[in-house]
Amino acid sequence: MSKIVIVGGGIIGLSCAYFLQKDGHEVVVIDRDNITDGCSFGNMGYVSPSHFNPLAAPGIINQGLKWMLSSSSPFYIKPRFNLDLLRWGMSFWENATTQKMEENSIHLNNLLQLSRALMTDFKNDLGNSFDMVEKGCWMLYKQEKTGDHEKQLAEKANKFGLKTIICNAQQVQEYETQVEVDVAGGVLYLDDCHINTRKFMLELHSYLQNKGVKFYLNNEVVGFEKSNKKITAVILKNEKVEFDELVISNGSWLQQISKLLGIYIPMQPGKGYSIMYDNLENNLQFPSILVDDRTATTPIDKWLRIGGTMELSGHSDTILSKRVLALYNAFKKYYPTLNLPTPDLKKAWFGYRPVSPDGMPYIGRHKGFKNLSYAGGHAMLGVSSATGTGKLISEILKEKPTTIETMAFSPHRFS
Ligand SMILES: Cc1cc2nc3c(=O)[nH]c(=O)nc-3n(C[C@H](O)[C@H](O)[C@H](O)COP(=O)(O)OP(=O)(O)OC[C@H]3O[C@@H](n4cnc5c(N)ncnc54)[C@H](O)[C@@H]3O)c2cc1C
Repeated sequence: MSKIVIVGGGIIGLSCAYFLQKDGHEVVVIDRDNITDGCSFGNMGYVSPSHFNPLAAPGIINQGLKWMLSSSSPFYIKPRFNLDLLRWGMSFWENATTQKMEENSIHLNNLLQLSRALMTDFKNDLGNSFDMVEKGCWMLYKQEKTGDHEKQLAEKANKFGLKTIICNAQQVQEYETQVEVDVAGGVLYLDDCHINTRKFMLELHSYLQNKGVKFYLNNEVVGFEKSNKKITAVILKNEKVEFDELVISNGSWLQQISKLLGIYIPMQPGKGYSIMYDNLENNLQFPSILVDDRTATTPIDKWLRIGGTMELSGHSDTILSKRVLALYNAFKKYYPTLNLPTPDLKKAWFGYRPVSPDGMPYIGRHKGFKNLSYAGGHAMLGVSSATGTGKLISEILKEKPTTIETMAFSPHRFS
């Protein structure tokens, strides 16, 4: 049994803690907040094997440049001179090729399918206390050109063993029994499911406490002690915590904390927003990605969340109201008769996705130190791949062969 410290109590850190405590280790989670909000709480809650193509993909840069010209588009980079952003952007550009995307999608698919299967184990272990809904998820489109692309993606998904149903507008409407849908068509991904991530996080936190995992909350890691190629302790404001193994999983702040260790891990915070409605008499029956507008919807019972956008503006708490309003306006185009009131834009939730330059997570040991591992950088897929990440970290620390190949997730691939 080892003493393992995990820095970061988001969905990735807690999922690692889940598997590591099962392995019989003494597990400590340290977070500078109190595990009640953050990127892992107000997201869309998709557990989606359908998202096997990484963010760095051909065409995304041209599309991004066009979007940059509009203040209400789903993508924004705050203009600024920042060397980390420039270096990250160069790596992103290098990775946005067909060949890289095809290679990486194989590994991402493995991780997503592993994680999807493990989410059912979590449901059985925690009870379905986090409203897991196993119906699938729509990719809905308005433009035929988008439809052609979505059908190609569905073919690729089928080759990966995923089940899809391609529907025209009328067939989509037959599935959506309570709400009018205005689309050209859609692809339903049957293996996708969704959860209430807020409940998931709160339940998992309390489950881990009951299992003896120790939490140091409202405690920021500000430094490390090292000796002989090993990290021996994390330094908090008023104390230090020693350990045998360290797992860094502090989300979009991975680059900053790694600098304290002299390690380069490229990472940009990709800010996204969501808005919530409750007590709806009529609601969507399925979650949906409104592909032409890069907006996502998540219905559970009588509540509905609408979310999206990707802002590369650093860790800035400013809410860009036009972009939040754009989510609401996109929703109205696809569901024109569901009369939702205009949201209070200043109260929109936001979170910082941890975005690596190739759209692939960092999972595994880092060769800089003998007892350092990384789990992070899952960008838009932290919920979808948390459980698999936790399992892989447990296998890696046991020095067991991993369930899936992990080379593509190597944390030193950019150093
Ligand atoms: C609008 C939106 C919608 C999304 N929808 C989905 C979805 O449907 N499906 C999906 O799979 N993903 C989705 N995502 C992405 C997903 O939310 C993230 O990938 C995931 O939450 C990242 O989890 P994490 O644990 O890596 O990071 P975080 O949740 O950010 O956790 C990191 C933790 O580290 C702590 N920390 C940071 N620095 C320190 C330090 N020095 N010391 C101590 N603690 C520290 C922070 O306080 C934080 O609690 C969405 C994101 C957004 C913004």
